[in-house]
Amino acid sequence: MTQLEPATSRLDLAATDVGSVFVSNYPPYSVWSERHRDDALAALNGEPTPDTDLGLYLHIPFCRRRCRFCYFRVFTDKNSEQVQGYVDTIATEIERLAEKRAVAGRPLHFVYFGGGTPSYIAVKQLVPLVDRIKAVLPWDQAEEVAFECEPGTLTRSKLEAIRDIGVTRLSLGIENFDEEILEVNGRAHVTIEIDRVRPWIRELDFPQLNVDLIAGMVGETWDKWRETVQRTIDYDPDSVTVYQMELPFNTVFSKGKLSGENDVEFATWEQKREWHAYAFEQFEAAGFEVSSAYTVLRKDRGAKFVYRDAVWSGADMIGAGVSAFSHMSGVHYQNHDAWQSYLDGVAQDEFPINRAYPTTKGERLIREFILHLKTGRLDRDQFVAKFGVDPALEFAEPLDRLASEGLLSIEDGGIQLMLPGLLRVDQLLPEFYDERYRGARYT
Ligand code: SF4
Repeated sequence: MTQLEPATSRLDLAATDVGSVFVSNYPPYSVWSERHRDDALAALNGEPTPDTDLGLYLHIPFCRRRCRFCYFRVFTDKNSEQVQGYVDTIATEIERLAEKRAVAGRPLHFVYFGGGTPSYIAVKQLVPLVDRIKAVLPWDQAEEVAFECEPGTLTRSKLEAIRDIGVTRLSLGIENFDEEILEVNGRAHVTIEIDRVRPWIRELDFPQLNVDLIAGMVGETWDKWRETVQRTIDYDPDSVTVYQMELPFNTVFSKGKLSGENDVEFATWEQKREWHAYAFEQFEAAGFEVSSAYTVLRKDRGAKFVYRDAVWSGADMIGAGVSAFSHMSGVHYQNHDAWQSYLDGVAQDEFPINRAYPTTKGERLIREFILHLKTGRLDRDQFVAKFGVDPALEFAEPLDRLASEGLLSIEDGGIQLMLPGLLRVDQLLPEFYDERYRGARYT
């Protein structure tokens, strides 16, 4: 791999070791704390920030099987009664949220069903859940309603129900088209299930189909990756997300690696970037445009990713469900991530908030700057208009360093990441952190 100057807080990783690399928020979660819960409640009880979009995130934490690389809060052992209890609880939580002054009467800009596997739940659970939510927070005007699916959980009638509730962006977690790779990595679905659902999705005419892939799954080879990329193009989605596999602490692979119990080989970061770059090149040749370090879109078909753009631009978002993340008026917070603590929290007529963090204006500026860098380009004028600060001056030192290494360019209009910079963007971002957060953990 290209060696980078060492005198920075940048991660410069060769081997894929245990630890999180992906940056999803700022400041890091390890500084969020229980003692800030009241700040989150005060934000919910206060006036919302004017001209700020609002979104809703629902965490459906069930999966048929736990993938060996998965670090999300998911459960594979709940029976249908427990699932029903959870669905009722999440609806109650949202009804309560909808009454708060910061939420009441505001239109929803986006809705995101994430997990876990939202498509795991039955139609008879999904439809009443949505009815209860829409009664207090209608989403007919939302620009995007996204819904994550695992191919093996879908039937035609379930897809029909998903379409009927107003989903505009169906996101299919395919990850790879190779049977052996899916099995070695613990995915629940098999390739025949991926192929079976495609005609149904087409017939139901979802406005946007997204396919998720992971570069560098265990067992990946050049031949298999080329095949996966080609089959993805043939699958004809409107957008594709490509993540590089990593090993956060609580995955099955990570535990095996730390205990020495497995001798699994993980692709190096350089290898993953090569596969990632190849995929982007092929997708661009097939008509997609790169819209972030992870996403390519068929802009000619009007494809976009409203949830991502809103969250990265500081929109408010109420998250419901176990371990769900929220952001309201500059305060980040997260629900309890243990099953019973979450259920008890809602049952006791309170919000099940576990930890929170009220950001300063400076932290919001850094957050927006680093998240926008993930799109590969940042408009200086827009940034000045919002924060009163020119990012090229504010972050001059790390930007100059990265520019001198050919990873980005600084122009009058904006800051642009070159492809080698974009494909390692998460490793570069800590350079822009406030000093006290460098080295902090994303857990
Ligand atoms: S399907 Fe997604 S959420 Fe479920 S175990 Fe696999 S990676 Fe985790």
